[in-house]
Amino acid sequence: MTKYIFVTGGVVSSLGKGIIAASLGRLFRSRDYSVIIQKFDPYINIDPGTMSPFQHGEVFVTDDGAETDLDLGHYERFTDTSFGQVNNVTSGRIYQEVINKERRGDYLGATVQVIPHITNEIKSKIVAATKQFKPDFHIIEIGGTIGDIESLPFIEAIRQFKSEIGIGNAISVHCTLLPYLPTSGELKTKPSQHSVNVLRSYGIQPEILVCRTSKPIPKTEREKLALFCSVPKDAVIACRDMKSIYEVPLALEAQGMCSVVIKMLGMEERTPKLDSWESLVSKIKNPKKSIKVAIAGKYTKLSDAYISVVESLKHAGYADAASVEIKWINSEECVDYSNCKSLLSDVEAVVVPGGFGVRGIEGKLNVIRYARENNLPFLGLCLGMQCAVIEYARNVAGLKGANSKEFDENPVYPVIDLMLEQKNVKGYGGTMRLGAYECHLKKGSVAAKAYGKEVISERHRHRYEVNNEYIDKISEAGLVFSGMSPDGMLAEVVELPNLDWFVACQFHPEFKSRPDKPHPLFKGLIDAALKRK
Ligand code: GLN
Repeated sequence: MTKYIFVTGGVVSSLGKGIIAASLGRLFRSRDYSVIIQKFDPYINIDPGTMSPFQHGEVFVTDDGAETDLDLGHYERFTDTSFGQVNNVTSGRIYQEVINKERRGDYLGATVQVIPHITNEIKSKIVAATKQFKPDFHIIEIGGTIGDIESLPFIEAIRQFKSEIGIGNAISVHCTLLPYLPTSGELKTKPSQHSVNVLRSYGIQPEILVCRTSKPIPKTEREKLALFCSVPKDAVIACRDMKSIYEVPLALEAQGMCSVVIKMLGMEERTPKLDSWESLVSKIKNPKKSIKVAIAGKYTKLSDAYISVVESLKHAGYADAASVEIKWINSEECVDYSNCKSLLSDVEAVVVPGGFGVRGIEGKLNVIRYARENNLPFLGLCLGMQCAVIEYARNVAGLKGANSKEFDENPVYPVIDLMLEQKNVKGYGGTMRLGAYECHLKKGSVAAKAYGKEVISERHRHRYEVNNEYIDKISEAGLVFSGMSPDGMLAEVVELPNLDWFVACQFHPEFKSRPDKPHPLFKGLIDAALKRK
């Protein structure tokens, strides 16, 4: 039978609940238990797909094409498991489904209410995810902070779920903050006590407390927390600020958190196999070399907007015991080509990531031209690949004025065009080409060598594509179209094999990189960057 762990947060937002949930997931996995993690987000959007990256950070795409919260990326990276649509549910989706049922007459004339109809729908989403994956442990993270009006139906649903499933089958982990007052030299426990009181007022007594803190928790404070919050002393866990998020599972393990959870849930304790994770962390903490990689995009003020790209670069570095420093370049600063030299002269590689809209495009084209002309290792992702094709068309293939129809309604040479299947699409949510699709790589190409195979599957999120009418002309000029969809209709990878590393792809490899299994395209970029250094 599946055991449930509900993770809530209090005192402040941005406590890193997602990392804590993901770390606990890692600890189950290292005990050979299967685990899934599900995120409930209290906002009204059906999914984060329509939200600006400035608002919400990256949109993480799953194999089954769900546009999800960036925490799903942490879940997948820490547990090395691929999740899907059932793993991320918003209030918007819950209400939409309840309202659809009401319109269909499913409620047989009843008055439709938050309790029981919304809470039942929430509980059915928990059960649906359990049914799909049949895990040993099912972790459910509730977004937001305890006390928020928005998250109340979720909290009420977990209260019901916990009592229905019975003692010993579900526990709550509450994450809080212990602020440090330098004047008195103390970690303060009162906000955590209050936060637990709020949770209790909703009928939920947490079994475990995870406290974010910048200092170790002294024995007296730990005892105070245990006493006032009614949790066992060994269930007060400290989560210190750490250099790398990948240290968190080890820090939680050192305090016995997973064993406490396993005991509370009546499961069999097993010896964790953490050797490879420990050696990963030791490589992260003791890098032998360092390199600097530029990311030239438009959401550079918020690094969460490209979190999977940043993580993938770091993962590729770990494999070579190299630390990767990111240099953020606002592509608008490169609209003047002469700025590229000064901005890119101190980096060993450059990534042009995905994005939407015309702002900053000319700057991205200049960055790519600079990388191509100076043999600076380059990786283009989605929009980054479309820009690589436009740049090559304009500056090498003689197609002056080439552009994407996304940026110019009527370009002289529309080398990037809306995909056929997108032409009649109306509305924005969930309507792109989304999720995993196969791609066939050209034998002997840089991409095929990097992957070590010719048939790959990668995740997508786009509306536009290379216009096939121009492929011959552009490839005659030297750009190799080394990856195509199985039917040969959609260009998926382009490369310049004569340069050290110049590869761009229509898909998003960053969603499949793992800390201990770097993605081949990022590995290729970082290897080339290290060689250059
Ligand atoms: N805007 C481009 C498209 O829709 C690229 C999308 C992306 O980078 N994810 O095709």
